[in-house]
Amino acid sequence: MGRIELLPRDYHSYKANLHSHTTCSDGRFTPGQAKEHYKKNGYSIVAFTDHNIFLDHSDLNDGEFLALAGLEVDTDSFVYGKKNEFNQTCHLCAIARDPACALPVFRAESYTGEAIRAKIDEFHQAGYLVNYNHPAWSCEGPDEFLGYGGFDGLEIYNYSCEVSNNNGDSHNEYAMALRMLRRPIRCIAADDNHQSRGCEDDSCGGWVVFKAPELSYPAIIQAYDEMRFYASTGPEILESYIEGGKLVVECSPVRRAHVTTQMIDPVYCGFSQDNSLTHIEVNLEKVPEAARFLWVQLTDGQGRKAWMNPYYLTRDKG
Ligand SMILES: [Zn+2]
Ligand SMILES: [Zn+2]
Repeated sequence: MGRIELLPRDYHSYKANLHSHTTCSDGRFTPGQAKEHYKKNGYSIVAFTDHNIFLDHSDLNDGEFLALAGLEVDTDSFVYGKKNEFNQTCHLCAIARDPACALPVFRAESYTGEAIRAKIDEFHQAGYLVNYNHPAWSCEGPDEFLGYGGFDGLEIYNYSCEVSNNNGDSHNEYAMALRMLRRPIRCIAADDNHQSRGCEDDSCGGWVVFKAPELSYPAIIQAYDEMRFYASTGPEILESYIEGGKLVVECSPVRRAHVTTQMIDPVYCGFSQDNSLTHIEVNLEKVPEAARFLWVQLTDGQGRKAWMNPYYLTRDKG
């Protein structure tokens, strides 16, 4: 078997915030200010996902910046059906695969799994990819999100929820979705920045890095589709591949590396006392036959994380 590139070193790295708000809804940055702020901080891509309004800011594009066109829809349980003493809500970021061809879609107006599943199908048919946002902040658990059907990605980390509500971490929800839905789900970290929540600035704390041959709309959508990106709050992944029966990851110095499957215990756990782990090698022969996927997670000396997308194992049954 030849080499399988998961995160190819030869491709460019494009840092992206896939969830953001501007003055077009309840954010403080204008779209132009958002572009300048993110460019200054090393980003190449911002997805504009204002609340319940689809806007194409491709006029901001230049050779070093790409605006993805999208929106965030919300279906609030208080408004659309289910009354608890706490509110639950489902937020979805829909990003157009080609802004010129995307059809208008509005929020689901019923807080049920069926209505939200149908809405995700409608987004797909209308030309969008769909990320399911911040389940921990939304007070949603498996009873809710396992019924939402075919969303493409799930926010494992939302920086604005972290700084404003201390619940930006949805690791458990993401791991549960991978286990229970038994299909690939992209692992997303994003800012959801508003600059208006009266807390610490909520930008540049969670991102994804695409590996792509060029900075163009189709190349980035293809990298999303092929899961050629990783999510991070700090650590950098330089490359990852499978060759000679081994999964290899090269990264910036970290303290811990875990590679998990759907099972309880990891198939790999690496540790460096002085936070200097930069090379990870997992012998695939030691991975149990029942494992469906390998999911790489890194933690640096400051507790910051990076997550690869799960790699689905195809076993030679011959
Ligand atoms: Zn939201
Ligand atoms: Zn948002």
